[in-house]
Amino acid sequence: MIKNCLYMYKKIWGYSKLRIILIFVVAFFAALNTCTDLLFFKFMIEGISEHRSYQYILVLIAIRLGILLLMQCVDNISNTVIFPFCDLKIKKGFSIELYKKVKDIDLIGFDNAKFYDKYSRAFNETEYRATGMLQTLSYVVSVTVQIIVVVITLAYINPVAILISIFGALVTAWANVVNTKAVYNYDLKKTKLFRGFEYIKRVFYIPEYSKDIRMTHLDQVMYKKFDRLTSDNRQVVKECAPKIAAVAISGSWAFNFLSVGVTSAFMVYKVYQGVLGIGDFVTAVYAVNNLSNNLLQFSNIIPQFSEHALFINNYLEVLNYQTQIQSEKDAEEISPFGKKEIELKNVSFHYPNVDCNAINSVSLHIRAGEKIAIVGENGAGKSTLIKLIMRLYEPDTGELCLDKTPYNQITKNSIAEVFSVVQQDFQHYALSIKENITLVGHRGQKEHTDDEAVWDAIRRVGLFEKIDSLPKGIDTQVTKEFDEEGLNFSGGQLQRLAIARMIYQNSGVMIMDEPSSSLDPISEAKIFDLIYELAKDKTLILVSHRLSGVKDMDRILYMEEG
Ligand code: ADP
Repeated sequence: MIKNCLYMYKKIWGYSKLRIILIFVVAFFAALNTCTDLLFFKFMIEGISEHRSYQYILVLIAIRLGILLLMQCVDNISNTVIFPFCDLKIKKGFSIELYKKVKDIDLIGFDNAKFYDKYSRAFNETEYRATGMLQTLSYVVSVTVQIIVVVITLAYINPVAILISIFGALVTAWANVVNTKAVYNYDLKKTKLFRGFEYIKRVFYIPEYSKDIRMTHLDQVMYKKFDRLTSDNRQVVKECAPKIAAVAISGSWAFNFLSVGVTSAFMVYKVYQGVLGIGDFVTAVYAVNNLSNNLLQFSNIIPQFSEHALFINNYLEVLNYQTQIQSEKDAEEISPFGKKEIELKNVSFHYPNVDCNAINSVSLHIRAGEKIAIVGENGAGKSTLIKLIMRLYEPDTGELCLDKTPYNQITKNSIAEVFSVVQQDFQHYALSIKENITLVGHRGQKEHTDDEAVWDAIRRVGLFEKIDSLPKGIDTQVTKEFDEEGLNFSGGQLQRLAIARMIYQNSGVMIMDEPSSSLDPISEAKIFDLIYELAKDKTLILVSHRLSGVKDMDRILYMEEG
């Protein structure tokens, strides 16, 4: 637990030192405030009962007010003005670290429900967990300093009261620790359900589903799913919540009984015995109350740390995920351009938790510059084969080679750059048209975009007139999600945009999965002409149901049951 939490604090320190330093400054002022508060009561009561001058009392009030105002200024300025800046830095640090990791996680990781749960938790929690850990740290620092101040004050008045309070706090701490694991398991169970609820929300929210929501009974189906999830959630609450509540109630009851009940009775007894003066009594009651609250907070801190630690375990598991798709250390870079030769030697592959192979001992030699089509019924294994060729999956057995070099002797990035792909489920993003096209990098360059090449690609796919007529041209946003002037493309136009991206990338192997499914026959013929022209000096792999499109290919491969 300690190792995990220290690891996280070290990271936060790396992102924003000021944030942590300020926690200590704020805690110092809070302790100073508590200290003056305790002494203020003592001196006020003693001053009044000893009939000190009115001026004396006013000076006491002025000192008390001055320190209170100072503390409130430091607290407010830190919390409202400085912390938000620091938190932005911390949020950026953690988010980008996690986003960078995503590229290393094999696609197959998403087929593993257990890993996917951890992955969702890491994504959903990282941001507020870092803020939560800072909050815990400020509790620890301010509560510790305050406890020290109060204990010193009480030690002068009556040490037995301290012991009773500490005993009460230990009971509560124990109850909280017992509860942490139960709360974590409770959260874990809820995460699974939470994903279901999020999915339903997405279906109602994302424009892609809006047509079906209006035209079909999809909404009713989703309501039923919502009902099922709600009743599962109710079951989880029923199983876990009463136990958590019972332990929490017994812990805080024991704490209050000892810290508030027994100590107050004990102090009054001491006053009756004539051992405690009235000024000391009021200060002591106030101090015990303060100590009890701080100890209670302290006892809440331990479970907070163990909850953080459990999360950090989960987070580190995602960060330390070892990709299965690895190239050798001395793997070489290859040029993404020019005709490529691809060879599959006896390749087999199965999805996790599925008994039969999706790809069964496939051997295939695609010559440099060859144009091949892959046809076959749904579920035959065409998309899986393409994903193996793009190295999104690693085969169970067999080997794949690019220009006679085995895949594991070529760097992963280099392989990714060899393929320009138009998938059936082509994704477009709420970014500008230019960004949507150039995200693949131009001729191997990742950093610099080339506007001329973007316009050239747009012209070739027949979108020039449409985009040229827009006030912002290629800087127009795709979708209206973040910009009212954004453009919603039709299905066919999106497919053209996908092909524009491919033209811009200009790499050696073109892979097209149903590239013309949303196009009318005239546009389809034009797009196929364009594809053949583009593929003149490239290798082309085309997955299509339409035989009209594949008749001019060098070879047509028919696939069945992998
Ligand atoms: P095609 O592209 O020819 O329609 P796929 O390659 O998508 O076929 O699928 C081949 C087989 O693998 C099918 O039986 C399909 O159900 C299965 N399959 C595809 N994706 C997954 C997955 N992520 N997990 C488990 N099985 C899958």
